[in-house]
Amino acid sequence: MKQPLPPTDELAQLVRSGDRMWLARAITLIESRKPEHRKLAAQLLTSLMPYTGNADRIGLTGVPGVGKSTFIDQFGTNLTAEGHKVAVLAIDPSSSRTGGAILGDKTRMQRLAVDENAFIRPSPAGASLGGVTRSTRETMLLCEAAGYDVIIVETVGVGQSETTVHDMVDIFVVLMLAGAGDELQGIKKGVLELADLIAVNKADGDNIKKAKLAASDYRRAIRLMTPESKNWTPPVLTCSAAENDGLDQLWADILKHREIKMVSGEREERRHEQQIRWMWSMISDRLLDQFKESPEVQAKLAETTQAVKHGELPAAVAAEGLLDTFLKDS
Ligand code: GDP
Repeated sequence: MKQPLPPTDELAQLVRSGDRMWLARAITLIESRKPEHRKLAAQLLTSLMPYTGNADRIGLTGVPGVGKSTFIDQFGTNLTAEGHKVAVLAIDPSSSRTGGAILGDKTRMQRLAVDENAFIRPSPAGASLGGVTRSTRETMLLCEAAGYDVIIVETVGVGQSETTVHDMVDIFVVLMLAGAGDELQGIKKGVLELADLIAVNKADGDNIKKAKLAASDYRRAIRLMTPESKNWTPPVLTCSAAENDGLDQLWADILKHREIKMVSGEREERRHEQQIRWMWSMISDRLLDQFKESPEVQAKLAETTQAVKHGELPAAVAAEGLLDTFLKDS
């Protein structure tokens, strides 16, 4: 039998004590959409706010099969061996739709899953990207309050999820594969633009030479792009997650990035901007939910949608009409 949730201030203490069972319960609370839970979650987050912000927030993306799980398992294990506490979270819109690859799944990271200084939390099932985003952001704060000093947010390169992760971390790492021949083919330029660090994985065995060639191609591509910051050119490394090769260098570069961005003030600035964007996205999500749930809007929605679809009503007029209905209602 599950113990009932204690009062919020007690739960906050339990989270701060580092107890993983209570951390998991607190995360389940913040994932809930029930209004009474939302209220408790808001209280919990508010009381834990002073204890957040102390982690290195690392985003990690790459196509399925690039080696993300192998990488996180090894990289995380290296870090916990050095005394870090590592949390792995996932933004995985595919799992919520079709039961696709469930990122952050414990079976994919077998060593970290049993490491007492690691905490792995998969995406909540059945939530929209917006819902997953909100709960991942809040989960990150809970993990920080629980003493995790390295947070890895993992995503697979689909849809909007990379931008979403980029928008909640300090450094965005992109894992790449050395393809045959034309390295930059098929790689979305947008991903390179988001990258703060690129690592060509599987640089082992017969693949080392190809990986190095791919890395120089990416380096060239990066040089042609407008840098996001004059203080940082994204380094391109090669690594082998399977053989634990190059991961130390990658961590060293992450620390260097932190140092440079802290001194220049860009890290704080990025976090502040993220908070403000987060606030606005919460406002628009809430408003949109209320709009869609409004009985008056619902009563008109099907008919209006049909009219727009059949060209009987201009979209702008339809939008105005529905908004008027909603605003009169509220
Ligand atoms: P994910 O889908 O991105 O999470 O990728 P996985 O970590 O599941 O890895 C996909 C496959 O690539 C697995 O068979 C891994 O064993 C293999 N793999 C991962 N990293 C490496 C690496 O550094 N070198 C080699 N040779 N294989 C790797």
